[in-house]
Amino acid sequence: MSTAYTFVPSPLHFYSDHPEQPSRFDLLTPRLDSFDAQRLNAIPAARDEVARVHHPKLISSLEEICREGPAVIDYAPTFVTRSSFEDALLAAGGTLSCVRAVLSGSARNAFALVRPPGHHAEPDRSMGFCIFNNIAIAARDALVGATGQSPRQRVAIVDYDAHHGNGTQAAFMDDERVAYCSTHQWGIYPGTGWYEEAPHARKRIVNVPLPAVSGNKSFERIANEIFVPFIQTFKPELILVSAGFDAHWNDPITTLGLTSAGFYMLSKKLVDLAEEHCGGRIVFVLEGGYDPANLANGTAAVFAALTNKPFIDPGDASPRKETDASEMIEKVCEWNGFLK
Ligand SMILES: [Zn+2]
Repeated sequence: MSTAYTFVPSPLHFYSDHPEQPSRFDLLTPRLDSFDAQRLNAIPAARDEVARVHHPKLISSLEEICREGPAVIDYAPTFVTRSSFEDALLAAGGTLSCVRAVLSGSARNAFALVRPPGHHAEPDRSMGFCIFNNIAIAARDALVGATGQSPRQRVAIVDYDAHHGNGTQAAFMDDERVAYCSTHQWGIYPGTGWYEEAPHARKRIVNVPLPAVSGNKSFERIANEIFVPFIQTFKPELILVSAGFDAHWNDPITTLGLTSAGFYMLSKKLVDLAEEHCGGRIVFVLEGGYDPANLANGTAAVFAALTNKPFIDPGDASPRKETDASEMIEKVCEWNGFLK
C-alpha cells in the first residue's frame, strides 16, 4: 500500500498582497512527483458533508458573498473571490478523499495539500484565511462512516501550525469522540488556545501555548511528553494532523523556531504513533505556511515520514537562540495529568 495525496492549489482564490496566496505552492508543485506517493483526484465536498461541521446559514451566505465577487469578510483579513466557494468545497473534498482512502485501506497514509486552509473556521464563522474547516469535516466524515466504510468511534487531531486551531477546537469542544492537541505561539492570532481553556476536557483538548522562538528542542520534548500520552490515553482509530509550516523560524508572519528537520521529527513521531496505536492510519492536512521554500521543504519532510524514506535536510538551521519553553511544557503536562 502506498502513500496518497491530493493537490488543490485553487489558483483563482487570490487576493493581491495577501500572504495566503497560490504562490505558496510555487516551489512545491515541481517537487510533487519526487515524493513516491500516489495522487488522488479531489472532488468537491457535498453541502451535507460540510454541514456536519458548519451551520447551513454560513454555507449559503458564503455562496452568496462569493457570487458577488471579491470581498474581505473579517479583520484577519480573510478574503473571498468568485471562485472561493467552489475552491473551499474542493479543499474540503480533497481532505475527504485522503481520509476515505486511508480508512478504506486503499492507501496506507496520506497528505491533503489543499488551500484555502481550514483550522480557524468555526462552525458558524469563516475566519483567519479559512473558509471551511477541512480537517473537522474529515473527522466528522470518519465518525459518520462514508459509503462502504464502518463509522469510527475515535479520531485524534494534532495541530502543529503556528496558530491555535480555534475552529477545530470549537467544532469538537463537546464531542468526546474527537481529541484535539495544538501547539502554537502564544500572543498572536487568534488569541485562543490557553492551556487551561477546556477544564471539562483535560487530556482530550490539550493546548500548548508557546513563547516566541520555541524551536526544535522544545518540540522534541512536546512530542515525547505530550503527543505520546495524548495518543496513548485517547486511543484513536485515526490520527489527523493540521500541518502548518508557519511554525518555521523564518515564516513571514509568525515567530516560532522550527526548522525542516523539526517538522520531520514531529511528523515521524506522529507516523510512528499511528503505526503503534491505530494501524498506521494517519492523514496530514495542510494549514498555514507563508514562505514557499519552507512549505516545499516541510511537505518533503512529511512525505519522508509517511513513506519511511530518508529525510534530506535542506540545511535551514535557525540563527536564533531557542527560547526555553520548559515551564509551559511542564504546566501543560501537569494540567492534563500527563506524568513522566
Ligand atoms: Zn498558521
